[in-house]
Amino acid sequence: MNQKNNRKAKDPSDAPKELPSTLSGRIAELRERKNLTIRDLAQDSRFTKERIEDIESGLETWLSSTDRQLLARALAVDPYIIQEVETRPRLEESDDPVAYAAMLADLSDSILKGVKEQECPQCGNTLRCRVQEGLDIDEQPIYLAKAFCQKCPFILK
Ligand SMILES: [Zn+2]
Repeated sequence: MNQKNNRKAKDPSDAPKELPSTLSGRIAELRERKNLTIRDLAQDSRFTKERIEDIESGLETWLSSTDRQLLARALAVDPYIIQEVETRPRLEESDDPVAYAAMLADLSDSILKGVKEQECPQCGNTLRCRVQEGLDIDEQPIYLAKAFCQKCPFILK
């Protein structure tokens, strides 16, 4: 066995052979193992055929949890098998400042409402969140949402 590729093998019984390390490759491989055509998989997962093609050609690199579950069920695998190779495109502030600000505002809101762990908006990993209490210039207490990602450089400060 190749030790280098072993770091994520949590449940080897689920993956007897090594699966491709990209979402596109892995979906295609899992589909072929089940002898499904793209059309079959589209029907079973209730995705469009075009969407399956987008995923298998690497245009879509991550899925919502609902979509992931549908696809995993159609492929008869644990959703984790799909999730571990998803990559989320990073939303950079310079790409779309309005969307970026909205994303940070949403994040702050939920942290201030008491959410302690969230999905990182940049990579999907666990975000550690906390509320920091401070004082504003009039000595009034204010609450600030803070968060940092455990995997990528994303930080909310
Ligand atoms: Zn992250």
